[in-house]
Amino acid sequence: MTDTETQSRSFLSAQETIQMSRLLSGLSAMAVLFLTGIGAKAWYADHTFHAWVLWLFNIPVIANVLWYTWSRNQQVLVRGLLITVGVLFTYLIASGGEGNTGPLWFYVFPPLLFFLTGLKAGTAILLFCYLLAVLVFQFPDLPGVTASYTADFKIRFFATLTFVSIFCFVLEAGRLHARNRLVELAQLHEQAARTDDLTQLANRRDMQARLNKELSRYQRSGHHFSIVLIDLDLFKRINDDFGHDAGDEVLRQFSALVQEVIRQSDVAARWGGEEFLLLLPDTTLLQALSLAERLRSEVAVTEFYHQGRQLPVTISAGVCSISSAGSVNELLKQADIQLYNAKEQGRNRIAPRVRTQTAATPNPSSA
Ligand code: GH3
Ligand code: MG
Ligand code: MG
Repeated sequence: MTDTETQSRSFLSAQETIQMSRLLSGLSAMAVLFLTGIGAKAWYADHTFHAWVLWLFNIPVIANVLWYTWSRNQQVLVRGLLITVGVLFTYLIASGGEGNTGPLWFYVFPPLLFFLTGLKAGTAILLFCYLLAVLVFQFPDLPGVTASYTADFKIRFFATLTFVSIFCFVLEAGRLHARNRLVELAQLHEQAARTDDLTQLANRRDMQARLNKELSRYQRSGHHFSIVLIDLDLFKRINDDFGHDAGDEVLRQFSALVQEVIRQSDVAARWGGEEFLLLLPDTTLLQALSLAERLRSEVAVTEFYHQGRQLPVTISAGVCSISSAGSVNELLKQADIQLYNAKEQGRNRIAPRVRTQTAATPNPSSA
Protein backbone atom coordinates (compact mmCIF):
# COMPACT_ATOMS: atom_id res chain seq x y z
CA MET A 1 0.00 0.00 0.00
CA THR A 2 1.41 3.44 -0.94
CA ASP A 3 1.66 6.43 1.41
CA THR A 4 -1.36 8.09 -0.16
CA GLU A 5 -3.49 4.93 0.00
CA THR A 6 -2.63 4.57 3.64
CA GLN A 7 -3.48 8.23 4.20
CA SER A 8 -6.94 8.01 2.61
CA ARG A 9 -7.73 4.74 4.38
CA SER A 10 -6.55 5.99 7.74
CA PHE A 11 -8.40 9.29 7.21
CA LEU A 12 -11.63 7.40 6.56
CA SER A 13 -11.14 4.95 9.41
CA ALA A 14 -10.33 7.85 11.78
CA GLN A 15 -13.60 9.49 10.72
CA GLU A 16 -15.46 6.21 11.14
CA THR A 17 -13.96 5.69 14.60
CA ILE A 18 -15.20 9.12 15.69
CA GLN A 19 -18.62 8.49 14.11
CA MET A 20 -18.87 5.07 15.78
CA SER A 21 -17.84 6.52 19.18
CA ARG A 22 -20.56 9.15 18.96
CA LEU A 23 -23.14 6.59 17.88
CA LEU A 24 -22.26 4.16 20.66
CA SER A 25 -22.28 6.88 23.31
CA GLY A 26 -25.64 8.13 21.99
CA LEU A 27 -27.09 4.61 21.95
CA SER A 28 -25.85 3.95 25.48
CA ALA A 29 -27.41 7.22 26.71
CA MET A 30 -30.70 6.31 25.00
CA ALA A 31 -30.57 2.81 26.49
CA VAL A 32 -30.17 4.27 30.01
CA LEU A 33 -33.05 6.68 29.38
CA PHE A 34 -35.40 3.96 28.09
CA LEU A 35 -34.43 1.39 30.73
CA THR A 36 -35.01 3.94 33.49
CA GLY A 37 -38.26 5.26 32.00
CA ILE A 38 -39.84 1.92 31.11
CA GLY A 39 -38.62 0.50 34.43
CA ALA A 40 -40.42 3.36 36.23
CA LYS A 41 -43.58 2.67 34.24
CA ALA A 42 -43.38 -1.03 35.17
CA TRP A 43 -42.87 -0.03 38.82
CA TYR A 44 -46.04 2.06 38.84
CA ALA A 45 -47.90 -0.80 37.12
CA ASP A 46 -46.86 -2.99 40.06
CA HIS A 47 -44.46 -5.09 37.98
CA THR A 48 -41.71 -4.56 40.52
CA PHE A 49 -39.55 -7.49 39.47
CA HIS A 50 -39.59 -6.37 35.83
CA ALA A 51 -38.82 -2.78 36.92
CA TRP A 52 -35.79 -3.90 38.92
CA VAL A 53 -34.46 -6.06 36.09
CA LEU A 54 -34.67 -3.14 33.67
CA TRP A 55 -32.99 -0.75 36.10
CA LEU A 56 -30.24 -3.29 36.81
CA PHE A 57 -29.45 -3.44 33.09
CA ASN A 58 -28.31 0.19 33.45
CA ILE A 59 -25.28 -1.04 35.38
CA PRO A 60 -23.55 -2.93 32.50
CA VAL A 61 -24.49 -0.16 30.03
CA ILE A 62 -22.96 2.60 32.20
CA ALA A 63 -19.97 0.44 33.21
CA ASN A 64 -19.29 -0.27 29.56
CA VAL A 65 -19.22 3.44 28.64
CA LEU A 66 -17.04 4.27 31.67
CA TRP A 67 -14.63 1.49 30.69
CA TYR A 68 -14.47 2.89 27.17
CA THR A 69 -13.82 6.44 28.46
CA TRP A 70 -10.87 5.03 30.38
CA SER A 71 -9.48 2.47 27.89
CA ARG A 72 -10.58 3.96 24.53
CA ASN A 73 -10.99 0.39 23.30
CA GLN A 74 -13.87 0.59 20.86
CA GLN A 75 -14.06 -3.16 20.23
CA VAL A 76 -14.71 -3.80 23.91
CA LEU A 77 -17.41 -1.10 23.88
CA VAL A 78 -19.13 -2.71 20.86
CA ARG A 79 -18.93 -6.22 22.34
CA GLY A 80 -20.08 -5.02 25.77
CA LEU A 81 -23.07 -3.22 24.27
CA LEU A 82 -24.05 -6.15 22.04
CA ILE A 83 -23.80 -8.68 24.87
CA THR A 84 -25.88 -6.44 27.17
CA VAL A 85 -28.50 -5.84 24.47
CA GLY A 86 -28.49 -9.59 23.58
CA VAL A 87 -29.09 -10.64 27.20
CA LEU A 88 -31.74 -7.94 27.64
CA PHE A 89 -33.64 -9.04 24.52
CA THR A 90 -33.46 -12.69 25.59
CA TYR A 91 -34.95 -11.68 28.94
CA LEU A 92 -37.66 -9.62 27.22
CA ILE A 93 -38.65 -12.51 24.94
CA ALA A 94 -38.51 -15.05 27.76
CA SER A 95 -40.51 -12.88 30.18
CA GLY A 96 -42.67 -11.17 27.57
CA GLY A 97 -41.93 -7.81 29.22
CA GLU A 98 -45.08 -5.86 29.95
CA GLY A 99 -48.19 -7.30 28.29
CA ASN A 100 -46.10 -9.60 26.06
CA THR A 101 -44.64 -6.61 24.19
CA GLY A 102 -41.00 -7.51 25.00
CA PRO A 103 -40.20 -9.16 21.61
CA LEU A 104 -40.96 -5.85 19.84
CA TRP A 105 -37.56 -4.57 20.99
CA PHE A 106 -35.96 -7.24 18.84
CA TYR A 107 -36.51 -5.07 15.74
CA VAL A 108 -33.82 -2.69 17.00
CA PHE A 109 -31.27 -5.47 16.76
CA PRO A 110 -30.69 -6.16 12.98
CA PRO A 111 -29.67 -2.61 11.89
CA LEU A 112 -27.54 -2.15 14.99
CA LEU A 113 -25.90 -5.53 14.58
CA PHE A 114 -25.00 -5.16 10.90
CA PHE A 115 -23.66 -1.64 11.41
CA LEU A 116 -21.55 -2.54 14.42
CA THR A 117 -20.22 -5.97 13.43
CA GLY A 118 -20.38 -6.14 9.62
CA LEU A 119 -22.37 -8.44 7.37
CA LYS A 120 -20.82 -11.82 8.16
CA ALA A 121 -20.57 -11.54 11.94
CA GLY A 122 -23.94 -9.74 12.01
CA THR A 123 -25.67 -12.56 10.11
CA ALA A 124 -24.10 -15.20 12.38
CA ILE A 125 -25.15 -13.40 15.58
CA LEU A 126 -28.62 -12.75 14.18
CA LEU A 127 -29.12 -16.44 13.31
CA PHE A 128 -28.04 -17.33 16.84
CA CYS A 129 -30.63 -14.89 18.24
CA TYR A 130 -33.29 -16.38 15.94
CA LEU A 131 -32.42 -19.78 17.36
CA LEU A 132 -32.80 -18.44 20.91
CA ALA A 133 -36.19 -16.94 20.03
CA VAL A 134 -37.32 -20.24 18.42
CA LEU A 135 -36.29 -22.11 21.58
CA VAL A 136 -38.23 -19.71 23.82
CA PHE A 137 -41.29 -19.83 21.54
CA GLN A 138 -41.27 -23.60 21.07
CA PHE A 139 -40.39 -24.61 24.62
CA PRO A 140 -42.34 -22.41 27.05
CA ASP A 141 -41.42 -24.81 29.85
CA LEU A 142 -37.71 -24.00 29.67
CA PRO A 143 -36.33 -22.53 32.94
CA GLY A 144 -36.69 -18.74 32.99
CA VAL A 145 -39.39 -18.69 30.29
CA THR A 146 -42.57 -17.19 31.71
CA ALA A 147 -44.21 -15.77 28.60
CA SER A 148 -46.45 -17.61 26.23
CA TYR A 149 -47.27 -16.30 22.78
CA THR A 150 -50.03 -17.15 20.36
CA ALA A 151 -49.19 -19.03 17.15
CA ASP A 152 -50.32 -15.99 15.10
CA PHE A 153 -47.97 -13.72 17.02
CA LYS A 154 -45.02 -16.08 16.54
CA ILE A 155 -45.58 -16.40 12.79
CA ARG A 156 -45.95 -12.64 12.30
CA PHE A 157 -43.02 -11.91 14.58
CA PHE A 158 -40.64 -14.13 12.58
CA ALA A 159 -42.01 -13.04 9.21
CA THR A 160 -41.65 -9.31 9.95
CA LEU A 161 -38.29 -9.75 11.68
CA THR A 162 -36.96 -11.71 8.71
CA PHE A 163 -38.16 -8.97 6.37
CA VAL A 164 -36.49 -6.25 8.49
CA SER A 165 -33.27 -8.32 8.75
CA ILE A 166 -32.99 -8.88 4.99
CA PHE A 167 -33.72 -5.22 4.33
CA CYS A 168 -31.04 -4.14 6.84
CA PHE A 169 -28.56 -6.61 5.31
CA VAL A 170 -29.14 -5.20 1.81
CA LEU A 171 -28.89 -1.59 3.02
CA GLU A 172 -25.69 -2.26 4.95
CA ALA A 173 -24.17 -4.14 1.97
CA GLY A 174 -25.01 -1.10 -0.21
CA ARG A 175 -23.49 1.28 2.32
CA LEU A 176 -20.29 -0.77 2.53
CA HIS A 177 -20.05 -1.01 -1.25
CA ALA A 178 -20.45 2.76 -1.62
CA ARG A 179 -17.93 3.34 1.16
CA ASN A 180 -15.32 1.10 -0.48
CA ARG A 181 -15.89 2.76 -3.83
CA LEU A 182 -15.39 6.13 -2.15
CA VAL A 183 -12.08 4.96 -0.67
CA GLU A 184 -10.95 3.72 -4.10
CA LEU A 185 -11.88 7.01 -5.77
CA ALA A 186 -10.19 9.05 -3.03
CA GLN A 187 -7.04 6.98 -3.50
CA LEU A 188 -7.14 7.43 -7.27
CA HIS A 189 -7.57 11.20 -6.96
CA GLU A 190 -4.87 11.55 -4.35
CA GLN A 191 -2.54 9.45 -6.46
CA ALA A 192 -3.31 11.52 -9.57
CA ALA A 193 -2.81 14.79 -7.67
CA ARG A 194 0.69 13.70 -6.64
CA THR A 195 1.88 11.92 -9.77
CA ASP A 196 3.29 13.18 -13.03
CA ASP A 197 1.17 11.79 -15.86
CA LEU A 198 3.93 11.25 -18.40
CA THR A 199 6.62 9.66 -16.24
CA GLN A 200 4.57 8.31 -13.32
CA LEU A 201 7.11 9.86 -10.96
CA ALA A 202 6.09 12.13 -8.08
CA ASN A 203 5.13 15.59 -9.32
CA ARG A 204 6.46 18.93 -8.11
CA ARG A 205 3.65 19.38 -5.55
CA ASP A 206 4.35 16.01 -3.97
CA MET A 207 8.09 16.62 -3.94
CA GLN A 208 7.64 20.04 -2.32
CA ALA A 209 5.62 18.40 0.48
CA ARG A 210 8.24 15.67 0.91
CA LEU A 211 11.05 18.24 1.05
CA ASN A 212 9.25 20.17 3.79
CA LYS A 213 8.69 16.95 5.71
CA GLU A 214 12.32 15.95 5.34
CA LEU A 215 13.43 19.39 6.53
CA SER A 216 11.27 19.03 9.66
CA ARG A 217 12.82 15.61 10.29
CA TYR A 218 16.28 17.15 9.91
CA GLN A 219 15.45 20.00 12.30
CA ARG A 220 13.85 17.62 14.81
CA SER A 221 16.33 14.79 14.85
CA GLY A 222 19.30 15.86 12.73
CA HIS A 223 18.63 13.37 9.92
CA HIS A 224 20.74 14.53 7.02
CA PHE A 225 19.46 14.67 3.46
CA SER A 226 20.63 15.82 0.06
CA ILE A 227 19.03 16.68 -3.24
CA VAL A 228 20.09 16.26 -6.87
CA LEU A 229 18.61 18.64 -9.44
CA ILE A 230 18.88 17.04 -12.88
CA ASP A 231 18.38 18.62 -16.29
CA LEU A 232 18.44 16.75 -19.59
CA ASP A 233 21.05 18.25 -21.87
CA LEU A 234 20.05 20.00 -25.08
CA PHE A 235 16.62 18.45 -24.86
CA LYS A 236 15.09 21.00 -27.18
CA ARG A 237 17.27 19.57 -29.94
CA ILE A 238 15.83 16.10 -29.39
CA ASN A 239 12.34 17.53 -29.82
CA ASP A 240 13.41 19.54 -32.86
CA ASP A 241 15.35 16.74 -34.56
CA PHE A 242 13.25 13.69 -33.66
CA GLY A 243 9.86 15.09 -32.75
CA HIS A 244 7.96 15.75 -29.53
CA ASP A 245 6.97 12.08 -29.15
CA ALA A 246 10.64 11.12 -29.14
CA GLY A 247 11.19 13.72 -26.40
CA ASP A 248 8.34 12.22 -24.37
CA GLU A 249 9.80 8.74 -24.85
CA VAL A 250 13.17 9.94 -23.53
CA LEU A 251 11.51 11.44 -20.46
CA ARG A 252 9.77 8.11 -19.78
CA GLN A 253 12.88 5.99 -20.35
CA PHE A 254 15.01 8.30 -18.25
CA SER A 255 12.48 8.14 -15.40
CA ALA A 256 12.52 4.34 -15.46
CA LEU A 257 16.32 4.40 -15.35
CA VAL A 258 16.31 6.79 -12.37
CA GLN A 259 13.99 4.42 -10.49
CA GLU A 260 16.46 1.59 -11.06
CA VAL A 261 19.46 3.57 -9.84
CA ILE A 262 18.07 5.19 -6.66
CA ARG A 263 17.40 3.41 -3.36
CA GLN A 264 13.91 2.53 -2.24
CA SER A 265 13.98 5.28 0.38
CA ASP A 266 14.97 7.91 -2.20
CA VAL A 267 12.30 9.83 -4.10
CA ALA A 268 12.47 10.98 -7.70
CA ALA A 269 10.15 13.67 -9.00
CA ARG A 270 9.58 15.43 -12.27
CA TRP A 271 10.32 18.97 -11.18
CA GLY A 272 9.15 20.48 -14.46
CA GLY A 273 9.69 20.06 -18.25
CA GLU A 274 12.94 18.11 -18.58
CA GLU A 275 14.07 18.79 -15.01
CA PHE A 276 14.03 16.15 -12.29
CA LEU A 277 14.69 16.30 -8.58
CA LEU A 278 15.97 13.50 -6.38
CA LEU A 279 15.45 13.59 -2.63
CA LEU A 280 17.97 11.41 -0.85
CA PRO A 281 17.23 10.94 2.87
CA ASP A 282 20.10 10.13 5.25
CA THR A 283 22.61 10.99 2.53
CA THR A 284 25.66 13.23 2.79
CA LEU A 285 26.87 15.51 0.00
CA LEU A 286 29.58 13.05 -1.02
CA GLN A 287 27.18 10.14 -1.15
CA ALA A 288 24.74 12.22 -3.19
CA LEU A 289 27.51 13.25 -5.58
CA SER A 290 28.48 9.63 -6.01
CA LEU A 291 24.88 8.62 -6.80
CA ALA A 292 24.49 11.52 -9.23
CA GLU A 293 27.70 10.52 -10.98
CA ARG A 294 26.53 6.90 -11.22
CA LEU A 295 23.26 8.07 -12.76
CA ARG A 296 25.06 10.40 -15.18
CA SER A 297 27.36 7.64 -16.45
CA GLU A 298 24.41 5.17 -16.68
CA VAL A 299 22.50 7.66 -18.85
CA ALA A 300 25.60 8.31 -20.97
CA VAL A 301 26.05 4.60 -21.78
CA THR A 302 22.34 3.76 -22.11
CA GLU A 303 21.01 3.66 -25.64
CA PHE A 304 17.75 5.61 -25.94
CA TYR A 305 15.67 4.70 -28.97
CA HIS A 306 12.53 6.05 -30.58
CA GLN A 307 11.06 4.39 -33.68
CA GLY A 308 14.36 2.68 -34.39
CA ARG A 309 16.38 5.86 -34.16
CA GLN A 310 18.97 6.32 -31.43
CA LEU A 311 18.70 9.55 -29.45
CA PRO A 312 21.61 11.44 -27.90
CA VAL A 313 20.78 11.72 -24.20
CA THR A 314 22.99 13.05 -21.43
CA ILE A 315 22.24 14.81 -18.17
CA SER A 316 23.75 17.51 -15.99
CA ALA A 317 23.01 17.82 -12.29
CA GLY A 318 23.54 20.10 -9.33
CA VAL A 319 23.87 18.51 -5.91
CA CYS A 320 23.35 20.10 -2.51
CA SER A 321 23.11 18.90 1.06
CA ILE A 322 20.86 20.34 3.78
CA SER A 323 23.83 20.92 6.10
CA SER A 324 24.82 23.86 3.90
CA ALA A 325 21.32 25.33 3.49
CA GLY A 326 18.97 26.49 6.18
CA SER A 327 15.74 26.11 4.24
CA VAL A 328 14.20 24.19 1.35
CA ASN A 329 14.29 27.32 -0.81
CA GLU A 330 17.96 27.85 -0.09
CA LEU A 331 18.67 24.18 -0.79
CA LEU A 332 16.92 24.39 -4.17
CA LYS A 333 18.64 27.67 -4.97
CA GLN A 334 22.09 26.21 -4.33
CA ALA A 335 21.31 23.05 -6.32
CA ASP A 336 20.15 25.28 -9.18
CA ILE A 337 23.42 27.27 -9.05
CA GLN A 338 25.36 24.00 -9.18
CA LEU A 339 23.27 22.81 -12.12
CA TYR A 340 24.04 26.07 -13.89
CA ASN A 341 27.76 25.49 -13.18
CA ALA A 342 27.54 21.96 -14.63
CA LYS A 343 25.95 23.34 -17.79
CA GLU A 344 28.54 26.10 -18.01
CA GLN A 345 31.35 23.59 -17.65
CA GLY A 346 30.19 21.78 -20.78
CA ARG A 347 27.14 19.60 -19.79
CA ASN A 348 27.08 15.83 -19.17
CA ARG A 349 28.54 16.47 -15.73
CA ILE A 350 27.77 16.87 -12.04
CA ALA A 351 28.50 19.88 -9.84
CA PRO A 352 30.10 20.53 -7.45
CA ARG A 353 33.02 18.53 -8.73
CA VAL A 354 35.08 16.38 -6.39
CA ARG A 355 38.81 15.85 -6.86
CA THR A 356 38.78 12.05 -6.58
CA GLN A 357 35.99 9.64 -5.86
CA THR A 358 37.59 8.34 -2.61
CA ALA A 359 39.59 11.16 -1.01
CA ALA A 360 37.17 13.70 -2.27
CA THR A 361 36.46 16.95 -0.51
CA PRO A 362 33.70 19.23 -1.63
CA ASN A 363 34.62 22.34 -3.50
CA PRO A 364 34.74 25.09 -0.85
CA SER A 365 32.58 27.31 -2.99
CA SER A 366 29.93 24.63 -3.16
CA ALA A 367 27.11 23.50 -0.95
P1 GH3 B 1 20.04 22.75 -21.71
O1 GH3 B 1 21.04 21.71 -21.94
O2 GH3 B 1 20.62 24.10 -21.50
O3 GH3 B 1 19.09 22.39 -20.61
O4 GH3 B 1 19.18 22.85 -23.05
P2 GH3 B 1 17.74 22.36 -23.29
O5 GH3 B 1 17.45 22.35 -24.74
O6 GH3 B 1 17.49 21.07 -22.59
O7 GH3 B 1 16.89 23.45 -22.53
P3 GH3 B 1 15.72 24.33 -22.97
O8 GH3 B 1 15.18 24.96 -21.72
O9 GH3 B 1 16.12 25.29 -24.06
O10 GH3 B 1 14.65 23.37 -23.58
C1 GH3 B 1 13.91 22.49 -22.83
C2 GH3 B 1 12.96 21.82 -23.77
O11 GH3 B 1 12.22 20.79 -23.10
C3 GH3 B 1 11.93 22.77 -24.32
C4 GH3 B 1 10.62 22.08 -24.12
O12 GH3 B 1 9.85 22.06 -25.29
C5 GH3 B 1 11.03 20.66 -23.78
N1 GH3 B 1 10.03 20.01 -22.96
C6 GH3 B 1 9.57 20.40 -21.76
N2 GH3 B 1 8.62 19.54 -21.32
C7 GH3 B 1 8.50 18.58 -22.28
C8 GH3 B 1 7.67 17.43 -22.41
O13 GH3 B 1 6.85 17.08 -21.55
N3 GH3 B 1 7.82 16.68 -23.53
C9 GH3 B 1 8.71 17.01 -24.50
N4 GH3 B 1 8.81 16.23 -25.55
N5 GH3 B 1 9.47 18.11 -24.41
C10 GH3 B 1 9.38 18.89 -23.31
MG1 MG C 1 15.68 22.92 -18.28
MG1 MG D 1 17.73 20.88 -20.52
